[in-house]
Amino acid sequence: MRLKTMLSAMLVSTLLTVPVWAGPAPGGHVDRIFVNGRIWTGNVAQPWAKALAVSGDTLVGVGEDADVRTLAAADTAVVDLGGRFVTPGFQDSHIHFPGPSINSVDLSDVTTLAQFQAKLKAFAQAHPELPWIVGKGWGYAIFPQEKADKKFIDAVISDRPVYLAARDGHMGLANSAALRLAGVTSATQDPPNGHIMKNRKGEPIGEFKEAAQALIRKVIPPETEEDRYRTLLTHLDEMAQAGLTAAHDAMSTPRLVEMFERALADDRLKLRVRFGMVMVPGVGGYSRQHRLERPITEADVAPYVNLRNKLHGSMLKVTSIKGVLDGTVDAMTAVMDKPYVGTDITGIPFWETNELNQTVSLYDKLGFQVMLHAIGDKAVAQGLDSFAYAARVNGTTGRRHRIEHAEVPRLEDLRRMHDLGVIVVTTPMFANPDETVLKNFDPLLGPERAPHADSFRIFDDAEIIQAFSSDWDAFTFDVIEGIAVAVTRQTADGKPVGGWYPAGRISVEAALRHYTVDGAYATFDEAERGMLTKGKLADFVVLSQDLTAIDPMKIRQTKVLLTVMGGEDTWRSPEFR
Ligand SMILES: [Zn+2]
Repeated sequence: MRLKTMLSAMLVSTLLTVPVWAGPAPGGHVDRIFVNGRIWTGNVAQPWAKALAVSGDTLVGVGEDADVRTLAAADTAVVDLGGRFVTPGFQDSHIHFPGPSINSVDLSDVTTLAQFQAKLKAFAQAHPELPWIVGKGWGYAIFPQEKADKKFIDAVISDRPVYLAARDGHMGLANSAALRLAGVTSATQDPPNGHIMKNRKGEPIGEFKEAAQALIRKVIPPETEEDRYRTLLTHLDEMAQAGLTAAHDAMSTPRLVEMFERALADDRLKLRVRFGMVMVPGVGGYSRQHRLERPITEADVAPYVNLRNKLHGSMLKVTSIKGVLDGTVDAMTAVMDKPYVGTDITGIPFWETNELNQTVSLYDKLGFQVMLHAIGDKAVAQGLDSFAYAARVNGTTGRRHRIEHAEVPRLEDLRRMHDLGVIVVTTPMFANPDETVLKNFDPLLGPERAPHADSFRIFDDAEIIQAFSSDWDAFTFDVIEGIAVAVTRQTADGKPVGGWYPAGRISVEAALRHYTVDGAYATFDEAERGMLTKGKLADFVVLSQDLTAIDPMKIRQTKVLLTVMGGEDTWRSPEFR
């Protein structure tokens, strides 16, 4: 059924393109019309409309109320939008499924050490059945002198092992019981690409950076498949509630893809998902198990090619390969041209240039889009070099390779990013000027680099296609929050006054574009979705207020009232009548 409706969508889009509204699809019954709305279509030629008509999973009319009403059959349902704001369904272009286990503690809303300890203690008491306490989401700012230490966990949980990943996933904090179980002592050496943080006496303090995290992770009992599936379904429901209709997974394994196929078969899939398969050879924190000790060959990539051939519906597609070139600024592992302020540290490069060029060019040759996590200026440049190399040796164009996050690019690299047709996938929440950003991120970069770090404006000004993302579960996937940050560069409580480097602010419409039209382009789906025009998939969101007409500081009060994906409601708030 999905395939049939997809084919009809393609037919409609090829037959009828220019007029925004021009009558029903041939033979298509109009199931629902939505009238009396304030609809931002994402279509530059006709940005605003009042009404939509839906047949199956497809939009068959977008325009004025009177025009759309003429499409209705006697049994067509009419939904009065009551003047509410409608946008194309949101796409999160860089996300990490399956997300935090329903058996783990989420610390991302914790802002003080006391809250951290209280939440941890409460979770442990509520889950006496769990042999390990695992969780995620802390930032350095909650610790005295911004120094993480196992003693802060030991004070509340000492009888069970605990491991808590930091919010960006590039480091983690264990308690003493976990260190004992893992056999980590002052004698334990740093593994390649990782650090075991130690005090002056050489004793491990419980903090593990990048690949060193594996020392602890390998002794944590794995979750069952059923738990992972239940976790995935829970998060899919939450995402529909947030107005998301599509997402790009940024570290996919064949096992993860299988879990989504199961959700599709169970009719529980509430999101169109594109997969960025873990790059082979994988280098760096998460993916050393995928590392090869020889040059990559086409045979190594065959499983991904097979998956790509197998999945080609509008719901699930394998389009991309995800690699990681560096870490983060906060951990001083992002690779920079010049040292972090007050240090001689320039980060940890995960790839040797030749190896990266050979690897990227093989994927490019096989028709994959390559997504490279690169945050530091030197890592971004290394990624762009590899894309340029691949295009040169293969003679390819139109691959839409991507730099993920691109927090601190060299300004002089923007021009070549544009000219190479590279997409930048940025992360608005990285610019949320909380304590960690103001007290750690900003000072580490200093006055030469911080002013353009996470400036979404510089990419727009350079006319680079920019798709927005959350990097969930590092940060919330709440799109409204992301829009608010991109537009204000202020926290929810209005700090700092005037915004953090306000030159980086963008308009609401620009932010919406990055969550809709540009996202669809970044996944090669622009012919099918991303804007609300006749013939596109009926993926849209009804919001409680018009984002373009309110004080930007009120954006965060917006609620998602209705989410429609492929013509079906995936979320309907009780407040939406
Ligand atoms: Zn990521």
